[in-house]
Amino acid sequence: MIRSSHACLQSLIITLIGIIALSSCKPKTESTVHITDLTQVTAVIEALPDLPYEDRISCDAWENYAPYPENQLWFEEETIRLNFHCMYDSKGDKLLPIKKMRSFWIPELIINADLRLWNNPQMNLPIGNTTPALPPMLRYRRTLSEGRYDDHGTYEHIDDDLFYFLNKGKEKNNYSKEVINKYAIDDDHILNVFIMEVHPDSVASKTYNQHNAGIALGTSIKISGFYEEDPKWWEYAAMFNHEVGHIFGLPHAWTKYDGCDDTPPNPNCFSPGPPPCEVVSNNLMDYNYDQRAITPCQLGRWHRTIHDLKSKKRKLIEERWCHYKPNDPIIINEDMHWVGNKDLNRDIRVKSGATLRLSCRISMAAHSSLIVEEGGHLILDGVRLHNDCGDLWGGIKVIDQSIGKAISHRGINSIEDTVDIQS
Ligand SMILES: [Zn+2]
Repeated sequence: MIRSSHACLQSLIITLIGIIALSSCKPKTESTVHITDLTQVTAVIEALPDLPYEDRISCDAWENYAPYPENQLWFEEETIRLNFHCMYDSKGDKLLPIKKMRSFWIPELIINADLRLWNNPQMNLPIGNTTPALPPMLRYRRTLSEGRYDDHGTYEHIDDDLFYFLNKGKEKNNYSKEVINKYAIDDDHILNVFIMEVHPDSVASKTYNQHNAGIALGTSIKISGFYEEDPKWWEYAAMFNHEVGHIFGLPHAWTKYDGCDDTPPNPNCFSPGPPPCEVVSNNLMDYNYDQRAITPCQLGRWHRTIHDLKSKKRKLIEERWCHYKPNDPIIINEDMHWVGNKDLNRDIRVKSGATLRLSCRISMAAHSSLIVEEGGHLILDGVRLHNDCGDLWGGIKVIDQSIGKAISHRGINSIEDTVDIQS
């Protein structure tokens, strides 16, 4: 019986086993095999019993998205697109002039925010912890919008009603999306950053403790606190990264449970002092003078959001996975089970003697292929193989000297749609 369904795919394990060459002097033929043709051509398809549930690792587990050293084989840096809106009142005397913001201050802010991310130090808490400090594999890029090439992704708005950010008092507007609704540009695929003046009344008030403040709303950020002649970008970079962390799904870390075991609850002290502040957290998602440490769990959750097709935040990321890198295949030399969603722009090449088991979702770039060499072993274990760029990918190829002809196909967009399994 021939079946073609996702449920069928999940319930069966397909093994593709390269056939050993009969003649070593015959030149190698690289054949392209449509998966429906495998029974006729070169591979053995076996229906194996379902794996016990406990042997399957969840596609949602953050561990599958953290940039651990063992994941470096396929892990790629992701770039977050940004643009900036500088909000002025008609006096225009509370932010640096737009030219300076555009050409100097904002580029420095981005550089410093990048550096702070990449510097990711060891956590201060809990005392004596051995939490790894992983490379974050994230960076920022200011992005131009169509028809706005002269603005360098940095826009000036003069608005006496919406220029300010206030998180206290009668005129508090920190949760308001009004300024975003009015001025955001391409916020479906660019993270819009609103740099706002502080409210003049709050500056005049002696009781108002002026400090940098920010808030993440949807795919935008509002930050304020620029009421000074020469604002230091490095003082804002920490807050900026904190707000971007919120955008990508990270809650505050000091709370009883933020979803991560490696971010201990803490008194959220800003700087060292008398008990309970002898040792202060340095985590990005706590409030403290440092805000640099990002734990494996936090990075895993951040990258999990990036690879979640249903998340609007994924669209803020440059589509690296749509640009095929033909000369840089991922070489599989040892047995591996990939769990977790991935977006790849390279071929995958399974070498002889190695087994690659795939689960969850993998987007393959146009023209890229999954190549199984002779003696290599590929197991499709409930995986969805597709192209998330509106193209076809190159499909699965089995290298086999015994095949005299190449079986051609036009590419596969989704294994779900194309596989036929005998059972
Ligand atoms: Zn926060």
